[in-house]
Amino acid sequence: MPPTPPPDSASSATTTPNPAQVLQEVFGYGAFRGPQAEIVEHVVGGGSALVLMPTGGGKSLCYQIPALCRSGVGVVVSPLIALMQDQVEGLRQAGVRAAALNSSLEASQASAVWRALEQGELDLLYVSPERLLSPGFLDRLEQLPLALFAIDEAHCVSQWGHDFRPEYLQLAVLAERFAAIPRLALTATADPRTREEIRERLRLQEGRVFLASFDRPNIRYLLRDKDEARSQLLAFLADRRGEAGIVYARSRSRVDRFAADLRAAGFDAVAYHAGLSPQQRSDALNRFRRDSGVIVVATIAFGMGIDKPDVRFVAHIDLPKSLEAYYQETGRAGRDGLPAVAWMVHGAGDVPQLRRFIDDSDAPEAQKRIEHGKLDALISFSEASGCRRQVLLRHFGESLAQPCGNCDLCLEPERSTDVTEVARKALSAVYRTGQRFGAAHVVDVLLGGDTARIRELGHQQLSVYGIGKELDRGQWRSLFRQLTSQGYLVSDEASHGGLRLGEADRVKPLLRGEASLALRLAPPAKERRRGGAAGGSGSGSGSASGSGSGGATGPGGLPENVDASLLAALKAWRLQQARDQAVPPYVVFHDRTLLEIAARLPADLDALSQVSGVGAAKLERYGQAVLQVLGAAEQALGGGNEGF
Ligand code: ADP
Ligand code: ZN
Repeated sequence: MPPTPPPDSASSATTTPNPAQVLQEVFGYGAFRGPQAEIVEHVVGGGSALVLMPTGGGKSLCYQIPALCRSGVGVVVSPLIALMQDQVEGLRQAGVRAAALNSSLEASQASAVWRALEQGELDLLYVSPERLLSPGFLDRLEQLPLALFAIDEAHCVSQWGHDFRPEYLQLAVLAERFAAIPRLALTATADPRTREEIRERLRLQEGRVFLASFDRPNIRYLLRDKDEARSQLLAFLADRRGEAGIVYARSRSRVDRFAADLRAAGFDAVAYHAGLSPQQRSDALNRFRRDSGVIVVATIAFGMGIDKPDVRFVAHIDLPKSLEAYYQETGRAGRDGLPAVAWMVHGAGDVPQLRRFIDDSDAPEAQKRIEHGKLDALISFSEASGCRRQVLLRHFGESLAQPCGNCDLCLEPERSTDVTEVARKALSAVYRTGQRFGAAHVVDVLLGGDTARIRELGHQQLSVYGIGKELDRGQWRSLFRQLTSQGYLVSDEASHGGLRLGEADRVKPLLRGEASLALRLAPPAKERRRGGAAGGSGSGSGSASGSGSGGATGPGGLPENVDASLLAALKAWRLQQARDQAVPPYVVFHDRTLLEIAARLPADLDALSQVSGVGAAKLERYGQAVLQVLGAAEQALGGGNEGF
C-alpha cells in the first residue's frame, strides 16, 4: 500500500525542521511534556540515550520527532507486531510517511516497503527484532541514510525484567555496525536493576539516561480488604457502565467465571487467557481496542502492548506477584491522562498461594529469594498507611513530598491506629538481637517463643524477650513490613533479608519518644477468621471514585463545560470514521481531543487547529466533518452558542 503523501512540514530534507514546529504541525501539540524536549534535542544532535518513562508518558514522540528532524529513516524495533499496523496507521493519519516490516506481511508488500525505503520515501520504519536480525537485513540497512534506531520495550533485553526475549540480546550488534547512528532505548520499567542491565546489554553506557517521574497522578489507587470479590467488583463497577477496563484475576478458571458473572450482570465483558485459542484471543483483543466500553477479564497473559489510551479502570481481584507487576498492570489505565482508577481487593488469603508458586518453581534459590522479596514489597504496599503513592514511588527510588490526595488512604484516613509503642518494641528487638535477623526470628523473640534458634543464641536472656504479647504473629509481621516500607527498618538482601535499623534521622525521634506513628494494623487473627473485619468492603467501593485529581468534573466524570450529548455525537462520528477505515477510534482522535473540542466549540478550522491533537493532516482530513458535527448538534439543541 502506498504511503500517504506527506504534508510539506514533515518531509522535505532541504532545511532541518525544528522540533517544536513538528510537534505543533504534525502532532497538533502545543508543548513538550516532561523530559521530552531535552531528549528530542539530544537525539536530534546525534546522541544516544536510555529513556525511562511511565506508560502514557509520551515515549513515542521522543524518537518520532527526531526521526522527522534528521535526514534518513528512523528504524523502530518493537516486539509488538500486533500493534505495529495501528502505530503506522496513526502516524500516516498525522501525515508521517511510515511503514512496518514484520512476519505478517506478504513478500510483495515487503518489497514495496523496501522500494520506498530505497527511494528515501519513508520517515519511520517499524520492524520486529526477528526481521531486523534476519540474514542480509542489516546489510541492506547499511546502504541507506538512517536517522536513528529506537529500541522500544527495551526491558525485553533484561533477564531480570519481566518480559525477557532472547532475540533482544542480539540488538547489541547495532552499537558496532552503526556506531555513528543515535540509538534510543525506551522502557516503562522503573526497576533500577533492569535499567542497568539494559544499558550494559545494549551498549548504552556512554549514552545519557533520561528518567521521567514514574508518578501517574491521574490514576487513583483504591485498595479494599477482600471480602467477597464478586460482589465487591460488581459494586465498584455499578457506576462505571460503558467504561473500558481490565479485570485481572489469578487463574484461567477465575477469569472465565468472572467474565460470565459480569456478562450476566449486563456488562460487555470478554475473557482473555493463555488457554483460549489464538483466534479467540485476538477477537477479544480486537473487540477491546475497536469497540467502546468493553471489559476484558484476564490473567497476566493479557499484558504488554495494550496501548489503548482510554482504559478507565484496572481492577485486581487477586494480588499480582510483585509491586512492579502491579505498577505495570495498573499503568494500562488512563494513558490519555484523564482520570482513571486502579482498584484492588486484597486479603491475607492470597499470600500463601503466591509463596507456594515461588517455592514450587524450578528457579534457583537466589532467584526465589528475590521473588519473595518482591512479593513482600507488594504486601507492604497493600498494608501501607499514610499514602499509597508515596509507598509506590519510594519503591522506585522516587520520593513524593506530600501525600497525594488521590488514593484510598489519603481519601479515607479514618482507619489507622497509634502504633508508637509497639513500633518502639519492634525497633528495640531488632537492635538487641544484633541487626542481622529476619522478621520471623525477631517476632519469635518478641512473642517469647521457645524455638531452637532462640535457645541456641541465648535470646531468651534479652530484655526484649516476650515483651510483645499484645499483638499476634500476623500483626507483628504486618507491622515489620510497614516499618520496612517506611524506612524505619532496612532489609538487607545480602544477608538474606536480615533487618537493621533505618537512618538515624528517621529512627531516633521514634525511639526517644519525640515522634509518634500511626499505621493501619491488621486485625488479630481470631477476628479475621470470624468472618472478616466488619464492613470490610464498605467505605464506598465505587462512590468515592468518580473524578480523579484533575479539574472540575460533573457527575459522569465529565468537565462541567462539556455537553454530554455533544460528546456522544463526536464519539459516534469518530466510531464511524474508524469503522470505515478499519482502525481503532483513537487513531482518528483521542478522547482527550474530542473532550477539548466539545469544551471549546471551535467555530472554524483555525480555531479547531488550536485544539491539542489536531495537526495539519488531521485538520485537512477531518476538520470540515468535525465542524459539521458541532453545527448539527447545536441545531438539535435549539441553536446558538448560548445554550452551552
Ligand atoms: P508511551 O509510549 O510512553 O506509553 P505514548 O507515546 O503512546 O506513551 O503517549 C501517550 C499519549 O500522550 C499519546 O496519546 C500521545 O499522543 C500523548 N502525548 C505525548 N506527548 C504529548 C505532548 N507533548 N502533548 C500532548 N500529548 C502528548
Ligand atoms: Zn495518597
